[in-house]
Amino acid sequence: MQTTTLPAGVGQNASPFLHGGEAAAIAAVLAAGQYGHGPLTERFEQSIAHYLGVEDVVAVSSGTTALVIGLQAAGIGPGDEVIVPSLTFCASVQAIVAVGAVPRFIDVDPATLCVTSDGVLGALSPDTRAVMPVLYGGRAVGLDSIRDVLDARGILLIEDAAHAFGSRTKGRMVGSTGALTCFSFDPIKNLTTGQGGAIVPRSPEEARRARSLRLFGLAQSREERASITSYAVEGPGLRSELSQINAAFGLVQLKHFSTVAAKRTHLWRTYREALSELDAALLVDVDVDRSVPFNCVVRISADQRDTVFEVMRGQGIGVGVHYPPNHSQPAFATWHRPLAVTDEIGRQILSLPFHPALSDEAAHFAVAALSRALRATS
Ligand SMILES: *Cc1c(COP(=O)(O)O)cnc(C)c1O
Repeated sequence: MQTTTLPAGVGQNASPFLHGGEAAAIAAVLAAGQYGHGPLTERFEQSIAHYLGVEDVVAVSSGTTALVIGLQAAGIGPGDEVIVPSLTFCASVQAIVAVGAVPRFIDVDPATLCVTSDGVLGALSPDTRAVMPVLYGGRAVGLDSIRDVLDARGILLIEDAAHAFGSRTKGRMVGSTGALTCFSFDPIKNLTTGQGGAIVPRSPEEARRARSLRLFGLAQSREERASITSYAVEGPGLRSELSQINAAFGLVQLKHFSTVAAKRTHLWRTYREALSELDAALLVDVDVDRSVPFNCVVRISADQRDTVFEVMRGQGIGVGVHYPPNHSQPAFATWHRPLAVTDEIGRQILSLPFHPALSDEAAHFAVAALSRALRATS
């Protein structure tokens, strides 16, 4: 049986990584009986803020919710245009659509799968109210050269940093650069809370709005509500808080984050070395010296990609495609525009198995299988 010879974990494209301690932390919350927003959620927020070196962090129920609340807290709403790469997880676009705003799709740099300053500049219109760069693969997106232009026009920078928890740029943590930044802590992200997300607000007022939006539009904090007989609903809001069950999970993960960061970085470098022999596969660069890599993506010939995917899947290797471009999705047809570069890249990308538990041997195994599949289908 071939499956028994596969290196462990190579069948999964991505996977959570547990350190031990998560189950006990969750069990303690279950026993204590308070499962919603609570002191542990607040401790989690403070711990993330401390780790990033920022004043405040607002924890929410998912990365998608972080983007929605981030946009709303910054005043983005119906009719506002938000520039976003087409090559991202559909959640980025759904968040823009959810607040009634208009996604303006742009291309990315094929070498990094991230937007460029020129790409953003070329897409600015009188209706542009925000730019949402996606920190693809964990790589920080440097829009410094156009920050003045954006600021002068009152255009918000809201980073989809779902891939990039722990990454750095110019010596600063992603999340501490002054942009409104949103993280995801879903099961396969660099840091997980099981499910969850966080917003790094730009001011105490933005933090206050985000906290109100995440919990029914309530004006008072948890402590304040405990000592009053009424509360004020001051604006819109749904149930989008991070539960203490998830916060407890996340606190254990955060304590051991350096282990995960080292494993991800090491694995990405192992792939880079193994792939250096393979001219038919171009590695998408994540700026590994500064980033905590989220994935490992190669570009191969568009003619071969689907067949190589099928061959490798057939061998039990967890390849994937991240992501099918959004400008061609039926739900976003209204906002379709021709994006030749993204169309091309969308047919070339292939994600290799990438998660902290994967061994060097597994990475070499995956690359050898890729090499064989490329030769067999050329
Ligand atoms: C995971 C992800 C999200 C959404 O985060 P969830 O926590 O899954 O809701 C948004 N954008 C990108 C690029 C992602 O990878």
